[in-house]
Amino acid sequence: MGLVESDVVIIGGGITGLSTAYYIQSRAKKGGIKISCTLIEGTENLGGKIQTEYNAGFTIEGGPDSLSSSKPWVFNLCQELGISKDLLKMNSAKTYILVDRKLLEIPEGMFQVAPSRLIPFLKTGLLSPTGKIRALMDLLIPKSRDERDESIASFIRRRLGKQVLLRIAAPLLAGVHGCSAQELSIDATFPYLKDIERRYRSLIFGLFKEKRKGKSKKGDQAFYTLKRGLREIIDAIVSNIDHDYTSIITGKHVRSVSINPYDKRFEVLLEDGSTLRGRSVVFATPAYITADILSLPELSMLKSIRYASVVVVTLAFRHEIKSVFAGTGFLIPSESELRISACTITSNKWSGFSPPGYTLLRCYLDTNREASILDYSDKQLAEIVLKDLKAVLSIAEEPLFIKVNRWKNAFPCYSIGHREKIRALEEAISLYPGLHIAGASYHGISISDCIQQAESTAYKVLNFLNNK
Ligand SMILES: Cc1cc2nc3c(=O)[nH]c(=O)nc-3n(C[C@H](O)[C@H](O)[C@H](O)COP(=O)(O)OP(=O)(O)OC[C@H]3O[C@@H](n4cnc5c(N)ncnc54)[C@H](O)[C@@H]3O)c2cc1C
Repeated sequence: MGLVESDVVIIGGGITGLSTAYYIQSRAKKGGIKISCTLIEGTENLGGKIQTEYNAGFTIEGGPDSLSSSKPWVFNLCQELGISKDLLKMNSAKTYILVDRKLLEIPEGMFQVAPSRLIPFLKTGLLSPTGKIRALMDLLIPKSRDERDESIASFIRRRLGKQVLLRIAAPLLAGVHGCSAQELSIDATFPYLKDIERRYRSLIFGLFKEKRKGKSKKGDQAFYTLKRGLREIIDAIVSNIDHDYTSIITGKHVRSVSINPYDKRFEVLLEDGSTLRGRSVVFATPAYITADILSLPELSMLKSIRYASVVVVTLAFRHEIKSVFAGTGFLIPSESELRISACTITSNKWSGFSPPGYTLLRCYLDTNREASILDYSDKQLAEIVLKDLKAVLSIAEEPLFIKVNRWKNAFPCYSIGHREKIRALEEAISLYPGLHIAGASYHGISISDCIQQAESTAYKVLNFLNNK
C-alpha cells in the first residue's frame, strides 16, 4: 500500500469508529469543507462487537441485541441514516429472576436498578416482606453527605437494602455490564440515580416525581432492535459515508502509532509494514489495545481499566418451548447453582427473528462467575447451557443448531473513580493535539453511548483541523 496521507486516520471499525467517520464527513459536508479520512479495521468484518448472522430463517445476534430508549443518540443516528422505520420494539417487557428455583417477574417500572413505581414493587414476589420494608426505608433515609464515588453495591445497599441488591440489581448488572455490583462505580455507571438522591434524597420518590413531571421519560424505558438486527446500523453507516473522501481498509491491524517530531503528523504503522500519515488520529479501539499501539508512558492509565469476558451461546429449537412464563428471558443471581447468568428468549423478544413455531434462546456465561469459561470447547459449553436450561424450562429435544460467541475482555468495568481516571486521561491526551480516544472504555458502554462519543469526537477533530 506504501504511504497514504489523510487528514484523519480512525483506528477500529466498530460502531464508534464507523460513526466517527460518518459524523466527520456529514458535518464537514454541511460546513462546506473537504476532509479526507481513512478508517482501519484489523479484522475482515466491520461492526466490532455488533455481529448479526442469518441462519435457516433465524436472526442471530452474537454480541449486543438491544437499544435502550433511555439513551437517544442511536435513535437520532437511525433517523439521519433513514432506517428509523425499521426500528422494532421489544414484544414484552417481562423479564424474570430465578429465586429459590422459581422464576419471578421483575416488577414493572424498574428504571436501571431502582424502582420508579411503588405498587408493582410492593407486589413483587422477588422480595420478602422484610426486604420490602427495608427498601421502603429509602423514603426516610437521609441523603449521603459524602460526595465521593462508591460502588453500585454500596449505593443500592445503603438506599434500598441488601435484598434489592442481591435479588434484583446484581443480576441485572451482570446481564448488562458483565461486571459485579461490588466493582462498578455508581458515578460512572448510573450517574442519574446518584443525581436523584442528591436532588430528592429518596430514589423511589425522586424517580416517581421525575416521571410525574413528565420531564423525564426515563421511567418508561423500552428496548428496540432493527428488523434485520443491529447489523443494519453498520450497513447503513457504511452506505451513507461519503466514499469519495473516506477509505475503509479491513483485514489490517495497526501495529503502532508515533508522532513525527518535525511536522507533528501521526504515523500509523500497519502489520503489513505500510504506513498511513494523518494530521489527526482517532483511537476507537478498547483502551488496553490503544495503550499497546501508542505506548506513551504518560498514557499508561489506559491499561488500568479491567475488562470482563463473556460467552454467548445461542440455541435454536424446532418447536416452541413450553415454559412457565411468557417473558423475554430470565436472569440468575450468582449464588444459584446454575452456571449461566442470563437467558434471553429471542423468539419471544423480537418478532421475525425466528421462523413461526421455532424457538431461539441466547444464554450468557461470564468470567466473574466462572473464570475459565473462555477455555471450554463449544461442546462443553453446549452441555453446560443445556443442563441449566433443562432445570428451568421444559426442553426435551436436541437443538437444531448451537452458535458460540466468545468475548474476551469485552466489557470495560467502570470501577470506583472511573470518571476521575478518564478526566485525568483526557487531560494527558490534550497534550498531544490531534490525538483522540473514544468508545466503550470511557463514557458509557452502550451502543448509544459510543455513538454520542463518536459525534463529539468528530466535532473535536473538525475543530482541530479547522484551527490548524
Ligand atoms: C456480548 C455483548 C452484549 C452486549 N449487549 C449490548 C446491548 O444489548 N446493547 C448495547 O447498547 N450494548 C451492548 N453491548 C456493548 C456494546 O456492544 C459495545 O460496548 C460497543 O459495541 C463497543 O463498540 P466500539 O466500537 O467502542 O468497540 P468494538 O466494537 O470493540 O470495536 C473496536 C474495533 O477495533 C478493532 N481493532 C482492535 N484492534 C485493532 C488494531 N490493532 N487495528 C485495527 N483495528 C483494531 C476491532 O477488531 C473492532 O472491530 C454488548 C457487548 C457485548 C460484548
